[in-house]
Amino acid sequence: MPHAFDLVLRNGTVVDGTGAAPFDADVAIKDGRIAAIGAFAGHGGDEIDAKGFLVTPGFVDIHTHYDGQAIWSSNLAPSSQHGVTSVVMGNCGVGFAPCREADRDLLVSVMEGVEDIPEVVMTKGLSWEWESFAQYLDALERRPHDIDFATQIPHSALRVYAMGRRGADRDHVFGRGFFDSGCLPATLIRWRVSKHQSLIRDLSRFSGYDRIFVEPDRCEPSGLQSHQRQRGYGVWR
Ligand SMILES: [Zn+2]
Repeated sequence: MPHAFDLVLRNGTVVDGTGAAPFDADVAIKDGRIAAIGAFAGHGGDEIDAKGFLVTPGFVDIHTHYDGQAIWSSNLAPSSQHGVTSVVMGNCGVGFAPCREADRDLLVSVMEGVEDIPEVVMTKGLSWEWESFAQYLDALERRPHDIDFATQIPHSALRVYAMGRRGADRDHVFGRGFFDSGCLPATLIRWRVSKHQSLIRDLSRFSGYDRIFVEPDRCEPSGLQSHQRQRGYGVWR
């Protein structure tokens, strides 16, 4: 006999995301969607005893750095272990596409510096089956993943791709005084120096600054934005 529901989560504490008080209920799933919330007799095709657990909508994490991990792993852990069902990566201007072969080490070192991901992990894990951003998306798509994700074009990768070493070296480095002066609108890339020793090593030429900025030409942000406007879509962050 067919079941009314494919899956029933039994006796969980539902926190429905509306701000309403938590309540105990069964949650029934049919065809991949929540079909009913309440108390159900009978059995679903599958049953999960959720007593003592929270049953919630999936969380969306809009700031992550799975750009490398999503290439070498199907599991976007730990986010996927914490109830996150969608992530956005490519944040903080760091990532791996677009990228020419000669610039791979550079982008790895930037990611290591910003996010404390050890260089050896990325060097071993990245397959570099891409040069363009579109090819990077294709590479991501070839692997199934445990949660959904969206990715942004990271500014540092785009800048180096467009400008070559000039994009990496034409660094206009400012210390805390610049930061405090309120000149932030022109700043696109930010490195926050952590205590991580590799970062100190990689950025030793900047030593003495506890916050480091690379300032593009002031026309750069507006140029990128106007290009995006012409395309008629996209999100600037
Ligand atoms: Zn970040």
